[in-house]
Amino acid sequence: MLDVHLSTSCRVYETFDHMKSFYLIKPYLLEKKFFILLGLACLIIVDFLQLCIPRIIKWTVDDLTAYRIDIRTLLIYALYIVGISILIGIFRYLWRRCLIGTSRRVEEGLRNRLFGHVQTLSASYFDKVKTGDLMAHATNDIQHIRMATGMGMVALTDAIVLGTAAIGFMAYINVKLTVFVLIPMPMIVLGARFFSKKMHRLYGEVQEAFSDLTEVVRERFAGIRIIKAYNRQQEAASRVEDVSKDYIGKNLSLVRITGSFFPMMVFFSNLSLAIVLFLGGRQTITFTITPGDFVAFISYLGLLTWPMMAIGWVTNLIQRGKASLDRIDKIIQTLPEIDDRPGEVILKRVKGPVVFKNVTFSYAPDVQESGLFSVLARIDINVDYGKILGIVGPPGSGKSTLLNLIPRIFDVSQGSIMLDGIDIRKLKVRDLRSRISFMPQEPFLFAGTIRENITLGNKKIKDAELIRAAEAAWIYDTITSFPKGFETLVGEKGIVLSGGQKQRVALARALLKDSSIMILDDPISQVDMETGDAIIKTIRSMAGHKTIIIVSHRLSAVRFADQIIALEKGRIIESGTHTQLMAQDKYYAKTFRLQEIEEEYAY
Ligand code: ADP
Ligand code: MG
Repeated sequence: MLDVHLSTSCRVYETFDHMKSFYLIKPYLLEKKFFILLGLACLIIVDFLQLCIPRIIKWTVDDLTAYRIDIRTLLIYALYIVGISILIGIFRYLWRRCLIGTSRRVEEGLRNRLFGHVQTLSASYFDKVKTGDLMAHATNDIQHIRMATGMGMVALTDAIVLGTAAIGFMAYINVKLTVFVLIPMPMIVLGARFFSKKMHRLYGEVQEAFSDLTEVVRERFAGIRIIKAYNRQQEAASRVEDVSKDYIGKNLSLVRITGSFFPMMVFFSNLSLAIVLFLGGRQTITFTITPGDFVAFISYLGLLTWPMMAIGWVTNLIQRGKASLDRIDKIIQTLPEIDDRPGEVILKRVKGPVVFKNVTFSYAPDVQESGLFSVLARIDINVDYGKILGIVGPPGSGKSTLLNLIPRIFDVSQGSIMLDGIDIRKLKVRDLRSRISFMPQEPFLFAGTIRENITLGNKKIKDAELIRAAEAAWIYDTITSFPKGFETLVGEKGIVLSGGQKQRVALARALLKDSSIMILDDPISQVDMETGDAIIKTIRSMAGHKTIIIVSHRLSAVRFADQIIALEKGRIIESGTHTQLMAQDKYYAKTFRLQEIEEEYAY
């Protein structure tokens, strides 16, 4: 038994040693080295204190059965027990603080490291990986690692120290009896292993069902207006009922397993008890052991059940932790596709043109060679510094994709983009992006104040600058009409801004940034024509100081541009000034005239 026990523990330690991803938690463990050692020392002290109690019971029973005890000695024995219990309490508190505290530190460190890393990954990574999966790594996996380091360490030490010591003390009383009593023990180890594996699997399913449930409910509440407007309450309720039923079903299977686990364990330890009662009782009759030994033996048996369970449990705990750690390691090992290459050029101030040289781009890199599925193909553009480039084209023609290539949200598949005559892939990414202000098509606001949303948390920005940007984006009057002005909360728990208001906040964010290149993706798509014209006027006034690239579905917004290109299916079909394009009388001219008529009707 002892052999089985020890070899299991060794195996567990080996798993620890051979873990290549162990480097991830090592620094935090080293940082808390002192607390781990202190915690383990306290844990071992508690184990030995626990082992003292059966000794005292033995003395008492032996004295009692020999009728040689007085009240004073009895009181002393009782006080021993009180003293030991107090010490156990204190040391148990200490090890919990030290070891569980350490595992929390590991959790914190690992989570920060994971988030910090995931943040550096390229946009294409987030296209491939579901946010829900990333959330699962950040919660479940990190929790498993915490459990493996905290409770794993405790269970392992307990299994080894308390297990061996209890067996040692029992063998000290009587070897033969010990051997017999240990017969049912492997069943406890195997049972604990079997059940904890099964429980973990079911627990995972319960968690999954729970996240389904919350997601379905959250989505129904987020879309409550649609549900009401289309009278879909019944369907919404029955969908929630379905996922709720699934969740309860998963929970019930878990209960069936947990419900049979403890009775099973108790059965096996009671089997040992029966053996002690019968064999030990016989040995007591034959005076091989004293009545005190007999009672102490039973107490040791009680102490042994937990270490046996722990052996079964801890192997799972550590295996699970290792699997989680490997998954986290895989993410940490993922390198950002877009990153600084050695020998990068430092970009100080942009003075030259933005040039696209035969640029082809495809979102799926494996089909890029055929060129069939490229979103952009053979794009050539040259925008001189301080000039305005307008980009038009039907939806899905690749306008947003083209803009995304400039700050290297994605990298070109073929060809190159040059800034000041330097391939942007040779520039430091941070430098490049710091020279560009970029307003994406979908305005995104964080939950926070309007000020935070415009400044993006940059505290150095002065009020005057903030106001100027808000005025330029034609959102200042709206902001001041709110009682709290710039401090108004938006997003969750805050007020709901209209699409056009959101867009103008996002525009103010882009206008605030002191940059050399301004990229605007359909900045006036959601504002009324009058405001739109005013905004375009401000943007125009910035030409000369910076290069402006503007996409617009409203052609009148780009008619003044120094150069206009029209995209269709990822190819440039027309390019020139407004006058030139009107003279060509193709896509641009036709769309322009159509919109002109529409706008006349609107007024
Ligand atoms: P536009 O801005 O002109 O409407 P986009 O550049 O947004 O066009 O899209 C061009 C094409 O690229 C579309 O067919 C769209 O489905 C595809 N596309 C856009 N973003 C992605 C992405 N992240 N992954 C894969 N395909 C994309
Ligand atoms: Mg677009």
